[in-house]
Amino acid sequence: MNSSNENIPSPKELEKEISDFLSKRFGNQVKFVQPLARLNLAASDDGEASLGKETQINFDLKPKDLIAYLDHYIIKQDHAKAVLATKICTHFNRVRHFQQAATTALNMVGQIKNNVLMIGPTGVGKTYMVKLIAQKIGVPFVKGDATKFSETGYVGGDVEDLVRDLVREADGDLERAQYGIIYIDEIDKIASSRNIIGADVSRTGVQRALLKPMEETEVDLKVPHDPISMLQEIEQFRKTGKREKGAINTKNILFIMSGAFQELSDIIRHRITKSPIGFGATHYRAQDKNDLLKQVQSEDLIAFGFESEFVGRLPVRALFETLSEDDLYEILKNPNNPVVLGKKLDFAAYGIDIKFGNELLKAFAKEAFLENTGARGLVSAVENVLLPFEKVLPSLSLQKFPATKAITDHPDMALQQVESENGKQAWEDQFDGLAADEKVYIEAYIRKNIDAYAGQCRLALTPARISAIAACYVRRVSNVENDIAIVESLYDDIKGIELRFFKKNEINIVFEEDTIDYLIQELVDERLTIERIYEQMTEQLAHGLRLILEKTGKNRFFISTRVMIDPEQYLEDLIRNELKHLT
Ligand code: ADP
Repeated sequence: MNSSNENIPSPKELEKEISDFLSKRFGNQVKFVQPLARLNLAASDDGEASLGKETQINFDLKPKDLIAYLDHYIIKQDHAKAVLATKICTHFNRVRHFQQAATTALNMVGQIKNNVLMIGPTGVGKTYMVKLIAQKIGVPFVKGDATKFSETGYVGGDVEDLVRDLVREADGDLERAQYGIIYIDEIDKIASSRNIIGADVSRTGVQRALLKPMEETEVDLKVPHDPISMLQEIEQFRKTGKREKGAINTKNILFIMSGAFQELSDIIRHRITKSPIGFGATHYRAQDKNDLLKQVQSEDLIAFGFESEFVGRLPVRALFETLSEDDLYEILKNPNNPVVLGKKLDFAAYGIDIKFGNELLKAFAKEAFLENTGARGLVSAVENVLLPFEKVLPSLSLQKFPATKAITDHPDMALQQVESENGKQAWEDQFDGLAADEKVYIEAYIRKNIDAYAGQCRLALTPARISAIAACYVRRVSNVENDIAIVESLYDDIKGIELRFFKKNEINIVFEEDTIDYLIQELVDERLTIERIYEQMTEQLAHGLRLILEKTGKNRFFISTRVMIDPEQYLEDLIRNELKHLT
């Protein structure tokens, strides 16, 4: 091929050529539309990420990967995980696909977005799940409350405020904001009341106000009649000399609505069994209610008090189950749980390591369950018990806090005990026992989820590495994913020593895999540092290896764990062996 780069038109020239061609051939009927910024992270032809360097949108995610990711954080809710992960993945992949395909033909009018309606009681993971997904995909997320909305938006807030909030969440990146997720809670509160005869004007008005943004509309970035936003605009113009693009389009923004929908199961039961509404509703077991809610149809939501156009714009339904006391305990036992990690961080701020005993976690779960606010009750249950300790322990010279059931049963005694020398020792022993249990638990947890973690880790997850990851978890406050990243980076640092050693000595050393595992363990346990390993290699081996290189020409040495433990013996054996070959 003899075509040179000069013959390749720039995208702008190409656009003009195609437009000219189309208008000659079809007149004004067909128009070429430049696809919007592509949504993938892959570098575009000119080497720049297509959405700017900060944009990290993970668009090639598959639903199964996203479900596996959620499994690391969310207990139960398998139905909701599957529905949400699949539909959100599809939404963003679809946006990307159509934009990459650069086709106008498929840009159908009246396409239905995958907006989601989530049904479930409070504190069961609705917000948490959407947040985790938004974070994983890398799109901005905002949450609002439907009860704050008013029909016109003048009294309370309105959905347009949320759209503008997305821009803030996206650090002013308009492009990214247009692919954000808007989550509106308590949506059941804007259903018109069935007890009121005639239309419940204000609530249906709020529903109507949501229709357009949920489909597609342009939202002005400036708040109308708001002097602050006008001042901000002037300030922006003064600073940058540029006028901001005035509006943001909601076509690709995903809307997720949620609510508890108290009487919905009764309406569904009425549809299915024709038994009267209200009858027997209070005698449901949670499971029966759940089974009924799984059968929700649009007509039930309309009977609940929603306009049919509104229901039509929420084609995806995800059902969240009530959590049992055991589920709450499982949540606390989950190594990535923010309640426990948050509490560990609180104490770590005073240099105190806290480890929780299982019986205490069970007591928290029990107390939270009685509150009937799902997992939300866990935070207050934990706070109530730990507050006296958080008050006193920072003033004592103490680094280990074993939080066992004894501290709830007899908090005063526990605090007195720790003031005595014997008591302190007993605490330390208890703590070490809990830390050992935690390590075993984390190892088992990683093994149980090995497929998902293997997908996230570029190293083979050998037993030694699982042990190192668990040791990391026990030593510092972080989640398993983070600890995997730490072990990966230690691996890289150790491989980096090989390179440094070669640059300095022109001798190739290669750490065997089990030597690397041994060193990772030493590094995690803080018995060695990378610098110290490099110094040891240089001090103890460089001279001897150079001697062998000079005498035999051998320039590649495999470093086993034995070499690290007894380098002198290794050199002695090596010299004897190599020189033997020479004689
Ligand atoms: P809601 O369902 O009312 O939106 P959230 O998602 O805000 O409740 O839950 C509150 C907190 O409780 C979360 O931040 C999370 O720590 C915890 N949580 C709730 N449900 C679960 C769950 N199924 N698995 C793990 N943690 C959960």
